[in-house]
Amino acid sequence: MATGTLTIDLDALAANWRALDRQTRVETGAVVKADGYGLGVAPVARTLAAAGARQFFVAVAEEGAALRKALGPGPVISVFSGHMAGDTALLRAANLVPMINSVDQMLQHVESLPGHPFGLQLDSGMNRLGMEPAEWAALRDIAMSQNPTLIMSHLACADTPDHPMNSAQLQAFAEMTQGVDAPRSLAATGGILLGPDYHFDLTRPGIGLYGGLPFVDAAPVVTLDIPVIQVRDVEAGETVGYGATWTAQRPSRIATISAGYADGLIRAMGPRARLHHGDVAVPVAGRVSMDLIGVDVTEVQGEPETLQLMGSHQSVDTVAGFSDTIGYEVLTGLRGRYRRVYAE
Ligand SMILES: *Cc1c(COP(=O)(O)O)cnc(C)c1O
Repeated sequence: MATGTLTIDLDALAANWRALDRQTRVETGAVVKADGYGLGVAPVARTLAAAGARQFFVAVAEEGAALRKALGPGPVISVFSGHMAGDTALLRAANLVPMINSVDQMLQHVESLPGHPFGLQLDSGMNRLGMEPAEWAALRDIAMSQNPTLIMSHLACADTPDHPMNSAQLQAFAEMTQGVDAPRSLAATGGILLGPDYHFDLTRPGIGLYGGLPFVDAAPVVTLDIPVIQVRDVEAGETVGYGATWTAQRPSRIATISAGYADGLIRAMGPRARLHHGDVAVPVAGRVSMDLIGVDVTEVQGEPETLQLMGSHQSVDTVAGFSDTIGYEVLTGLRGRYRRVYAE
């Protein structure tokens, strides 16, 4: 078998949820959008529900419907994109709670699903989703009279604790929600770590559950092992891969491994990336191609059968750094051809 193996440690996932839950005295939800950050929404969500999560968040109604199938009728499932045209049947059938983002969405909701639960998303400064202060002021009394399940907003800079946006958004959210009688939520993973002022009634961690920054104490969740198809000797002066961008400086051994950018291994990481064989770090040699990557295994004793890109030696954020991106993008890109193993 030539496909890489993506091992997802469900115990580590549950441990990360509990660790984030212990950081606050309020309810801890779970964000499982984008197929559970690429790791498989059904096993991820069932594990988090077993750990104690009762409130789940997704980006779009279609994800909510898939999540409802995985979780059954109990947990609350909220949809960040709110109530869009065409969502009505799904919201009703899967009992999803749209987070209403605008007056237009509010009208859409009360006209098509009167009496169906909804939450409200406010913009406290990120300028991405949610009602602006003036819009909210106009709608507030009518919206509050219908008992929203939640009032939420999202922080733009929570991964940078001393960024002035954090306190500015906190103040804006506190002002916009002063005196409202509904549960409030501001913090995702980064916001949890900013401290109790940011916690309100419910937190919405995502990336920290999956082992990513800014939750530095997260247990690693993902291991990626990639099989070696072939190992060859090259002379000093020979080149490896497309564009002949890598030249052997000494007699070298090159392993060709079976994964590439079609499997979410970002092509731009090529020149800086390394993998591991046991404890030995081995650098990528040449360009990442669609299905294959060359790796300089000169320092490895014997014939390596697999090389590890992510796991105990190097985190998803380290791998993200090879191509100047973030762990979120690496995780959600791990699609393609891996064999997925859910370990407990
Ligand atoms: C993605 C998202 C989250 C989770 O954020 P993390 O940084 O992954 O913890 C929470 N709230 C909203 C609105 C989001 O879009």
